[in-house]
Amino acid sequence: DTIGDNFDRVAAAQPDAEALVEVPTGRRWTYGTLREDVDTVALGLLAAGLGKGDRIGIWAPNVAEWTLVQYATAKIGAILVNINPAYRTHELEFVLNQAGISVLVAATSFKTSDYAGMIEQVRPRCEALRTVILIGTPDWDEMVAAGRQGDRAELARLQAQLSPDDPINIQYTSGTTGFPKGATLSHHNILNNGYFVGRLCGYTPDDRVCIPVPFYHCFGMVMGNLGCTTNGATMVIPGPGFDPKATLTAVAQERCTSLYGVPTMFIAELNDPEFDSYGLSSLRTGIMAGSPCPVEVMKQVVDRMGMTEVTICYGMTETSPVSTQTRADDSLERRVSTVGRVHPHVEVKIVDPDTGLTLPRGEPGELCTRGYSVMLGYWDEPEKTAEAIDRARWMHTGDLGVMDGDGYVNITGRIKDMVIRGGENIYPREIEEFLYTHPDILDAQVIGVPDARYGEELCAWVTLREGAPELTAEGVREFATGKLAHYKIPRYVLVVEEFPMTVTGKVRKVEMREKSVELLD
Ligand code: ATP
Ligand code: MG
Repeated sequence: DTIGDNFDRVAAAQPDAEALVEVPTGRRWTYGTLREDVDTVALGLLAAGLGKGDRIGIWAPNVAEWTLVQYATAKIGAILVNINPAYRTHELEFVLNQAGISVLVAATSFKTSDYAGMIEQVRPRCEALRTVILIGTPDWDEMVAAGRQGDRAELARLQAQLSPDDPINIQYTSGTTGFPKGATLSHHNILNNGYFVGRLCGYTPDDRVCIPVPFYHCFGMVMGNLGCTTNGATMVIPGPGFDPKATLTAVAQERCTSLYGVPTMFIAELNDPEFDSYGLSSLRTGIMAGSPCPVEVMKQVVDRMGMTEVTICYGMTETSPVSTQTRADDSLERRVSTVGRVHPHVEVKIVDPDTGLTLPRGEPGELCTRGYSVMLGYWDEPEKTAEAIDRARWMHTGDLGVMDGDGYVNITGRIKDMVIRGGENIYPREIEEFLYTHPDILDAQVIGVPDARYGEELCAWVTLREGAPELTAEGVREFATGKLAHYKIPRYVLVVEEFPMTVTGKVRKVEMREKSVELLD
């Protein structure tokens, strides 16, 4: 099946079931009306000159039009290029040219960003770009009006000619460790991954899934949207950008059964001063993913949010994204402390990063994955593709992991983040988990900074709980003494208001390292 075929089949089976709710505007679609609108947009984009294999950019926060365009482009076989809502002119120009985007659908503005203005600025330098359609302006209405005149039989013929292995999506990675890379994905890649993610969450048409994670990222568009539509569940958009209050309000109002987030989002929600007054009893499950999920936070998600079946997913943009996931019937202990077992039809092995040889269970090394979910490649970057995917089609993730005898995987960090102090390998994750046990510390991130004597020294950035007394580096070190081996005790502690983040809510350790060097100088 292609994404369009699958969507049509689900919509035909349950036309009256609710498909999509946009909470801030109150707009609602059933599967039947969503299918109508998706077809209209598909025909409108065809009329705008978009064809199979052409690249269409989408640059918008989480609005319903994003979802319409996602399914409409899959029906035409055009390649949807997700553009990060935080981009500015330099990055926008890069993506438009790198992917050769001919049609761009964009919001006019978002937060402090004037999208329309930035597009006009870069347009003269983007040769391929022919058409810009701004959401919420007459551009969009005209495109839709043209779509209404279109021939649905022709769309069906076009759709029937598509192959599940066609590329239909370029998703740029989060840019946590460097410049984002454009992972090129097929229907087969992301349709199946969305389906299995939803199935392991136990989704049925009765489920209502609150999606505050960005659509531009695989977490929103694959695990969110495709996870819902392949299983007939309802997508609930709490708002265009992440806001803890709006998210909790949406869960309560829409009686959501599932909630997504990266750990920092859940931390913000749990710390909302009015947390206890929302009424979150409808929650059953959800997904925490994207970066290491602190055990303490997982426990609170289960106990205080009532997400007793919550799962953790591990994956990356390049693998559609999910490779491992905890299951609802795993013990609570395993669900809070591992990233679960390997997904159906996916293989995982742990190798020695130096020799490439597979390691015995229990030994940490680089995690590699293989299966239907591995991307077609990085867009227009064959060398980077060859570095990441070896001849036997194994994707080398750059993540450090360990698998126990029962197949449960733990992610111990990224190869690039591992700190080597005086010859000792230190996994920042372990120190972060320890710092969370400090009563005044809200969140902690640990990095290595250059040191003349030891090569690297540990530096912890911490944020404090509201009303916590001042915290000194000395205080933290005292707290750690006797509990952590001496070389794992951070030499430096910086108390900060917040960490530098990607839009997907990941901490940018590269930036933290640079800033620490400045601050400690
Ligand atoms: P870039 O590749 O551009 O540096 P990125 O790797 O953060 O950015 P993504 O594809 O969005 O971009 O994220 C995938 C990475 O996120 C994984 O390789 C892994 O390091 C991390 N990750 C995802 N899920 C988890 C998890 N459950 N636990 C720990 N780390 C996770
Ligand atoms: Mg990556």
